[in-house]
Amino acid sequence: MSDVQRVLIAGGGIAGMALAIALERTGIAAEIVEIDPDWRVTGAGITITGPTLRALDRIGLLDTVVNEGYCYDATRICDADGNVIMASRVSGRPFGARIPNSGGILRPVLHRILSAATRASGASVRLGVSIASIEQTNAAVSVKFTDGTVGTFDLLVCADGIHSRLRATLFPGAPDPVFTGQGCWRAVVPRPADVDCGHVYVGGPVKAGITPVSRNEMYLFLLQHVPDNPRMPEEHWPELLAEQLQGFGGALGAVRDGLGASARINYRPLEKLLLPQPWHRGRAILIGDAAHATTPHLASGAGLAVEDALVLAELLAVDIALDEALRRFTARRYERCRMVVDNSVRLGELEIARAPGQEQAELQRASMLALTEPI
Ligand SMILES: Cc1cc2nc3c(=O)[nH]c(=O)nc-3n(C[C@H](O)[C@H](O)[C@H](O)COP(=O)(O)OP(=O)(O)OC[C@H]3O[C@@H](n4cnc5c(N)ncnc54)[C@H](O)[C@@H]3O)c2cc1C
Repeated sequence: MSDVQRVLIAGGGIAGMALAIALERTGIAAEIVEIDPDWRVTGAGITITGPTLRALDRIGLLDTVVNEGYCYDATRICDADGNVIMASRVSGRPFGARIPNSGGILRPVLHRILSAATRASGASVRLGVSIASIEQTNAAVSVKFTDGTVGTFDLLVCADGIHSRLRATLFPGAPDPVFTGQGCWRAVVPRPADVDCGHVYVGGPVKAGITPVSRNEMYLFLLQHVPDNPRMPEEHWPELLAEQLQGFGGALGAVRDGLGASARINYRPLEKLLLPQPWHRGRAILIGDAAHATTPHLASGAGLAVEDALVLAELLAVDIALDEALRRFTARRYERCRMVVDNSVRLGELEIARAPGQEQAELQRASMLALTEPI
């Protein structure tokens, strides 16, 4: 095992929580500092692909996620009127009989599952606390926290998301997130019984679809071309989303007609970021969106975050020098994360250009096939 026994994790999102769980499983003590005193999560629903479910299985959470979310094996491709034109069914279950090919879950539910597992793992969690300053020697990393306390650790892992402040501290000159020209709408609405798997609507004015997230609920997603990145006032979200849904029939059309002030709607301009290699500086490393933030076109950001956690915990448990473990981490993760970021951005560009559906489907299929590879 490397000399790492105490790890400080900045950020209690998907990457930070998955890492704390994975480290505690290997006998390495993990401490999370999370800046939000209420440890909230924003967002509606999230799609969990087969590779994401495979990664969640390795931290012992597959069954809970399957029970509390909604999983399925096929996705229906529909025309803008809602007629099914193709059912994309992967033959069998490539990740093993227990692991469905896809699914969805409400973000707050996934957060509850991960945060409960983090606390149960024995990891320490301090809320409303961040890092004020970092000092590194060859032997340790010392941190002053924003509440005035101090601590010394073997490794600092920055899992503080796409707008990571620690990235700017550790990697002066690192690229900033870049707006990609699209905004993502999501809305959680009641699920009719016949929406029993994912639906993607192609050939309409914009890309949209539906993902079931529980026995009673589903979320719709819609990707709008917003070249000037306008402000979308929250009080107008129901009308703005309904306007974008004009021209769709089927289940999506029904959702549009029922959208009201009570709908749980979320809008976010999309950004991407890929930090050049390596992702570590001395005894500090970046994981998750802090190192590689993707648009949601391949629904893989959360999965990559959990995979980062698994690979880092695995390498820290190997009997090699820390610098070598961190170097191997980026080497193992970079190409897979780059592929997801670049191909997701490309899919967005194809949507904006209204490129033939076939070209989009082929890139989507090839990317998902690449993600079935072991990590
Ligand atoms: C619109 C949209 C839709 C998406 N849909 C999907 C999807 O369907 N499927 C999917 O797999 N992925 C999806 N993603 C991507 C996914 O949400 C992210 O990849 C994932 O949340 C990354 O996890 P993370 O832990 O790295 O970062 P985050 O989830 O951003 O967590 C970072 C945490 O760090 C905390 N923090 C921030 N700064 C500090 C600090 N200085 N000190 C301490 N704590 C700090 C934050 O409060 C937060 O808790 C989507 C993303 C977007 C934008």
